[in-house]
Amino acid sequence: MNNDLSGRTIVITGGTSGIGLATAKRFLQVGANVAICGRDKGRLKIAVADIRNMFGDENLLGVTCDVLDKQQIEIFVNSVVGRFGGVDTLVNNAGQARLSTFSTTDDDAWREELELKFFSIIYPSKGFQTYLEKSGSGSIVCVSSLLSRQPEPRLVATAAARAGQLNLIHSMAVELAPAIRVNSILIGVVESGQWQRRFEADKNSGNDYEAWVRKQAHDKGIPLGRFGQPEEAANAIYFLGTPMSSYTTGSTIDISGGYSKHVG
Ligand code: NDP
Repeated sequence: MNNDLSGRTIVITGGTSGIGLATAKRFLQVGANVAICGRDKGRLKIAVADIRNMFGDENLLGVTCDVLDKQQIEIFVNSVVGRFGGVDTLVNNAGQARLSTFSTTDDDAWREELELKFFSIIYPSKGFQTYLEKSGSGSIVCVSSLLSRQPEPRLVATAAARAGQLNLIHSMAVELAPAIRVNSILIGVVESGQWQRRFEADKNSGNDYEAWVRKQAHDKGIPLGRFGQPEEAANAIYFLGTPMSSYTTGSTIDISGGYSKHVG
């Protein structure tokens, strides 16, 4: 298996933190061109500096872009194509979960959550579609959640939106084949910026971050006994985003440490 991805271009939305940042590093390790985006200029600058220290910036492009803004996506697409000449893999990763129950989610929150989960895939995928088609081995990988199959009432809107998203991804896989493969990874819990923010919001934890994470994993009853690491999600994205998985489309990889309660 060829592990040299020189000349292959990977776009990662939300590449400034957590899973997206680990994925950027995973692809840069093997010589790929990598373009990342995020909304916040400061976080983008820190991520770019971090990556540049490890890999230089010859193969790196960082652009400020909100994936829910069609015009910003157009600028992102033009920047990537202008710099690298095309695109081979799009990782739709940008986003976050919404902690709310059916009683506490108001109409605006429902709309925001549905918009985020659908258009964070629709806008970038449409924007890069032509270039992915020209790749000869185009691949879209969506970073989704186990919630799409295993809802949790305290994340009601996110879970419902993720379920619809999985359905959308499957339709895209059929329609865009054979030029573009479309797959997703289903995350249970992976340590990232999201979990750091939840720890900071949990004023009653009385723990340091590591102890808090261990307790969360224990309370959830995750069979592998811990949260996943962003690098473990990145490895699955790497597989789906390269021709290593050339006969796989419309599929999912579970990254949940055995937290999934269903069979199949
Ligand atoms: P992080 O908060 O560490 O990273 C999220 C990234 O997305 C950041 O770079 C953020 O940058 C960016 N982002 C968020 N919204 C937008 C937007 N509208 N446009 C562009 N960029 C955006 O979280 P994770 O690494 O955990 O999250 C990655 C994905 O994995 C998300 O879709 C998340 O929902 C999903 N996931 C994660 C789980 C986990 O346990 N970690 C569980 C299930 C799913 P900025 O804020 O500057 O825009």
